[in-house]
Formats: sequence, structure tokens, C-alpha cells
Amino acid sequence: MAGTDAPRRQRLAFLLPVYNESDGIAEFHRVLQETAAVLEADLDVQFVYVDDGSRDDSRERLIALREQDPRVVVIGLSRNFGHQKAVTAALDAVDADAVVIMDTDLQDPPAVTVELVERWRAGADVVYAQRRSRTDTWFKRTTADVFYRVLERTSSIEIPRNTGDFRLLDRRVVEELRRYREHNRFLRGLTSYVGFQQEAVLYDRDARFAGTTGYPLKKMVQFAGDGIFGFSTAPLVLISRIGFFFSALSAVGILYALGVRLLTPERAVPGWAFLAIILLLVGGVQITMLGILGSYLGRVYTEVQQRPLYAVSLRAGSPWRDETSYR
Ligand code: UDP
Ligand code: MG
Repeated sequence: MAGTDAPRRQRLAFLLPVYNESDGIAEFHRVLQETAAVLEADLDVQFVYVDDGSRDDSRERLIALREQDPRVVVIGLSRNFGHQKAVTAALDAVDADAVVIMDTDLQDPPAVTVELVERWRAGADVVYAQRRSRTDTWFKRTTADVFYRVLERTSSIEIPRNTGDFRLLDRRVVEELRRYREHNRFLRGLTSYVGFQQEAVLYDRDARFAGTTGYPLKKMVQFAGDGIFGFSTAPLVLISRIGFFFSALSAVGILYALGVRLLTPERAVPGWAFLAIILLLVGGVQITMLGILGSYLGRVYTEVQQRPLYAVSLRAGSPWRDETSYR
């Protein structure tokens, strides 16, 4: 909640994960500065960039940005840990009254922040930006849609559809989120899970300004798994359902074979091809079910190892840490 009688100006920190954004990062920062200029009428603003082990010169470019703009803080991870962990590193580092998580490829228009802040001032703790439209490829839109539908049907919490990680979080929510240290992270699920007053603001998602997506199919599948397996045990229930279904089916088959053997004059059960198909089908289903078990088991394994979530190799500038104002 926004207290208006605070002794200092309120602080807003932008949490900005960066992976191979060399070609677009300067333009992103320029657009972001325009929005910051509006916000700075009554807020202090800080930009916390997390370079998630980029392979291009994004890190050098971020450091260059910092030389021109003292509000920039750069945290460099020691390798590529993935988007969700990069955002986590930023969440861990800041001390602000509110944070805004945003992609750095200009797909999340910085100007929307003004509206997010308005809602926050009006009392919301989480203001997520919901996509009214998106200009991604057909493939990405369809797979995302299927994913959100499955998630909605299977998970125990309500995760709003068509939202990414573009959102504003009040300090209280950030402090809650920090307590969740799971490895297979699905931050938008966690945000729903912690509760508080949540509101949506609609926006149009733009195309990437430059560069290519850091979420190729493999990472997307992994991420979808983290969402579904992390917030639902429905796939486990599915295993026994499918088991029951095939048991019932085989009972029918047994009765049929017995009937043919005992009651028909030929006394022979035809169809080895039929048998082979059934065998293959049941074998395939069994392996799929083992795969589901494996998905949970693998996640359990990474969690029990209790490794730190990421490693930092560079810090340039310090995020707000104490009660004195940044300026
Ligand atoms: N990103 C990251 N680490 C990664 C992949 C992506 O920090 O391993 C960042 C990326 O720079 C961008 C945001 O996460 O700011 C979203 O990634 P991207 O735009 O590639 O995903 P898409 O929009 O295609 O889903
Ligand atoms: Mg993007």
C-alpha cells in the first residue's frame, strides 16, 4: 500500500533482465527514461539491470549506460541462469517501495508503468499488465494459449491468462516472494500464490525491437513444465485415471476373447495385428506416465540439493539499501 505521509519520496525500482539484448538495449533505455521523467514528478526511480550471462556485449553496454545515467545499477550473473532467476536476483537486491518487472526488448512498453503506478497508489499491491493483443508469431500465440488453458484447468491457484512477468509489486509482495526459494521458478504463479490485492491493466504487446528471443522452444517447454508441475499435481492423478481406463479396456478384451473361444464354432481368436497395436499403445502410455513421474522426481531432486539460485559476478552501482534517499 502506498502511504502518502512517508518522510521521503517513494522509490520505484525497475527490475530489468537482459540476455543478448545488445542491439536494442540503448533504445530500450531511452524509451524507459521518457517514462521515468513522468514518474519522477513524485517518485525516485532506479533501474536495476541484471545481465543474465549474455554472450554478446550487453554487459559492456549496460556499464556504458551507467556512466551516462547514475540511476542505473548493473548486476551481472556469472553465467546464463535463465529469465526467472535473473528477475529473482533483482528482487533480492532491491529495497524499494514498489518494483516494476519488465522485459528489455521493448515488448513491454515502458509507458504502461504510469498506469501501473496509478493503480498501486490507489491501493493495489500487485498490478499485472495483461496483454490485450500480442504481435508474436502464430506458433508462440497458440502454444501460449494452450499452456494457459491447461494451467487454468489443472492448477490449484488462479493464474491470470495472458500475463507475463510485466507487473508492479508492492514492497510487501516483494518481501513475501523473497521467501520462496524454489529452483524451478514460475514467478507469475508465485505472485498469485502469495495473494494480496491484485489488479490488471490491459496493454498491447509490441514486437521485439531488435535481436532474437531468449526463449527458444526448449526453454519454453521447460518453463511450461515449471508452471504446471509447480502448481498442480493433476498429472499424477491423470496417471491412475489412464491406468483405470486401460484396465477396463483390457477386461472388455478378455471377455471378448473368452466369448469367441467358447461360443463360436471356429474357436479361434483372430487378429495378431490388433494385439500388436494394443501392446504398442499400452507400452507408449506407460512410458509417458513414467515421464510424468520423472518430471516430478527431477524437480524434487533439484529442490533437495538446495543449491543457491544464482551467482553474481559483477555489481556496478548499489541498489537502494538504506533509509536515506537515493539523491
Ligand atoms: N531473458 C533473460 N534470460 C534468458 C532469456 C531471456 O534474462 O535466459 C530476458 C530477455 O532479455 C528479455 C526477457 O527475459 O528481457 C524476456 O525474454 P524474451 O524476450 O527472449 O522472451 P519472449 O518475449 O520471446 O517470450
Ligand atoms: Mg520478448
